[in-house]
Amino acid sequence: MGQSCKKECCSLLKYALMQHKQIRKPENSETAMSLYHKRNMPTLAGRGIIFFISLCLILLTSAFQPAKAWPSSATELDNFISALEKQCKKYGWNDINLREIPWEHHRLTKNKNPLIFAHYGNSDKNCVLFLGGVHGDELPTVYLMLRLAHYIKNNGQLFNDRCLVVAPVVNPDGFLANLPQRTNSNGIDANRNFPTKDWHRDALRQWKNKARSNKRYYPGTRPASEQETLFQMALIKRFSPQKILSVHSPLNFFDYDGASSDLDTFEQWMEKICIESIHPLKKYGFFPGSLGNYAGNERGIFTLTLELPTSNPGKGNEYFRKFQTAIMKFINIPAKSRDSFSD
Ligand SMILES: [Zn+2]
Repeated sequence: MGQSCKKECCSLLKYALMQHKQIRKPENSETAMSLYHKRNMPTLAGRGIIFFISLCLILLTSAFQPAKAWPSSATELDNFISALEKQCKKYGWNDINLREIPWEHHRLTKNKNPLIFAHYGNSDKNCVLFLGGVHGDELPTVYLMLRLAHYIKNNGQLFNDRCLVVAPVVNPDGFLANLPQRTNSNGIDANRNFPTKDWHRDALRQWKNKARSNKRYYPGTRPASEQETLFQMALIKRFSPQKILSVHSPLNFFDYDGASSDLDTFEQWMEKICIESIHPLKKYGFFPGSLGNYAGNERGIFTLTLELPTSNPGKGNEYFRKFQTAIMKFINIPAKSRDSFSD
């Protein structure tokens, strides 16, 4: 696209210069008035040239810009990793080297914290997306996902032919707050803000009636208004994950949303994994604006929620050991897309 733009701009520029030369050349038969007009024409032609040069510059500049021009910088990432390291130390999470992980980020939160993720593997098919820290006060979920990112990094050979994406701190403003909080810095629950079909009809109504206007579950005044929500949507759009594991606490179960049919063995696999990890599988259901609704219900993505037994950060290592096998098996569960179930 850049080359054809360049060619087109250059030929337009040549044409404008030719016009410019022709106009400047006076002819004997011209009257004083027409000469006056034509002497002023170079101004117009000149403007044309400036316009085309500007156009060329804009096109050339845009051709060399990265595809996603969200605000980001290495300094922001460095500061953020330092802040995360401080929290890790505070919670006794001393077995993760955050600086070894190939973090990527393109978006910032309201508090200017980068929304980070790590992408592993050479495949672009059958991606598995892992989410932690969606609710900032569910502390061990962040540890679990940081530890997973570190584990995958250190065992890269096991995952070469995979596509794994780990976003360990979806709500960094909530996680880094003096008193960690569920909602983001706008007081909005990132797991009630997805633009699901029922959002406008039900989100605020259910929040008022079922959640009794509890601020912890506030969905906001419009869907997809929050960077944390947009971040998760962007990950789903970019990687088209086949499976998602979102880690929460402290409800102590697995919850599954997504494609299902008589041909589907996914739930049987899940039941087996749950029995093996001694962790119950429950049908908790989904909410207007929740990930289970957006990804599982509406998009047929196999969406599993792991609810850890407590939000105690000191339990992080214990939970990683408890659920590591289940997580590895989740990566390997054969999952078919919704299209496969259409018959
Ligand atoms: Zn949660």
